[in-house]
Amino acid sequence: SGDEFTVLIEDTDPSGAIWVAERILEDLRNPFTLGAHEVFVTASLGVSIGGGRARPAHLLRDADLAMYRAKEGGKGGYEIFDPEMSARALARLRLENEIRQGLANREFEVHYQPKVSLKTGAVTGVEALLRWHHPERGLLLPSEFIGVSEETGLIVPLGRLVLREACRQMRLWQDLYPGERPLVVCVNVSARQLHRPELASEVGRVLEETGLAPESVYLEVTESVAMDEALEISRTLRQLKRLGVRLVLDDFGVGYSSYARLKSLPVDLLKIDRSFSAGLGESPVDREIVAAMIRLARALDISTVAEGVETAEQAARLRELGCDLAQGYHFAEPLPAEAAAAYLERNR
Ligand code: C2E
Ligand code: CA
Ligand code: CA
Repeated sequence: SGDEFTVLIEDTDPSGAIWVAERILEDLRNPFTLGAHEVFVTASLGVSIGGGRARPAHLLRDADLAMYRAKEGGKGGYEIFDPEMSARALARLRLENEIRQGLANREFEVHYQPKVSLKTGAVTGVEALLRWHHPERGLLLPSEFIGVSEETGLIVPLGRLVLREACRQMRLWQDLYPGERPLVVCVNVSARQLHRPELASEVGRVLEETGLAPESVYLEVTESVAMDEALEISRTLRQLKRLGVRLVLDDFGVGYSSYARLKSLPVDLLKIDRSFSAGLGESPVDREIVAAMIRLARALDISTVAEGVETAEQAARLRELGCDLAQGYHFAEPLPAEAAAAYLERNR
């Protein structure tokens, strides 16, 4: 196909095939001269080895699978097909189909983890977290299905479901549990969603349908996604801000951040990654890092929230350091809507 080539080697053994694969890759490592430019290409290579009765179509399919594995492993390598690869590919395909089915059968549900002000102790909002009631495997966490959903694009309908449900729910809770300030809802948004030019208008439509105020919605974007300078992402982030929704930089501190980009990004809230909260009790280094993050956020006029707060001691340290908000098992786990409502009722 356009950028894929097949090499058929007859009368050889695996080591012969590997020898050819290595020669091809080595040759491609040399730069090409195009006019005045030197350009480099990399290739990934998959090898399948057929016996006497191997079918051509199967050989090609297996080589293809091996090539994708090689790509995943980094650029410029080769992989030899083994039957386990097709088992893995089949398992993924099955999962993808099950997610589609699950969407149709309404097996997905949103849970909510309360977020608390460290100054007043008041609940200020919740983070929406996706859960899957799998018909055979029981309740599944995102780690079981978000990866495949992102790769296949199924995260788009899933993300829409979470946003709509979370906004609908929050609108109700704002009436039931009024406070000094209306409760807010945080919703995770993945790179795949941000790459779509329609995202902002879809968010706008959900706000209209549910009647939730834009400033009650915080969209959480991971640090690595937000730092991606791809044009579409920057554009979508700006459009979202123009709608009036808030932006959260999730998992802050574990990715790579450009201060220049941080300064220019329309971020409202910095979420300190849970690996730092975890170290707060014991590690003076983590304490310094968290202190620096909070100072940086202050200087940029951005609020801070710490995630993964599991002990009273961690919460106390964060309060001392001037962190605004916290969430974690110390306060509450992610809860199904009914239990979350009970928590909001108790902690009004
Ligand atoms: P995240 O956005 O960093 O979400 C926080 C995760 O930390 C949640 O895991 C939550 O259950 C867990 N957590 C909360 N408190 C504590 C604590 O005190 N200690 C520890 N160790 N963990 C705590 P969960 O629900 O399994 O979600 C995992 C990830 O899946 C999320 O990480 C997020 O990246 C993704 N995810 C969840 N829901 C959605 C969604 O609707 N859309 C998208 N795109 N991603 C989602
Ligand atoms: Ca999050
Ligand atoms: Ca996080």
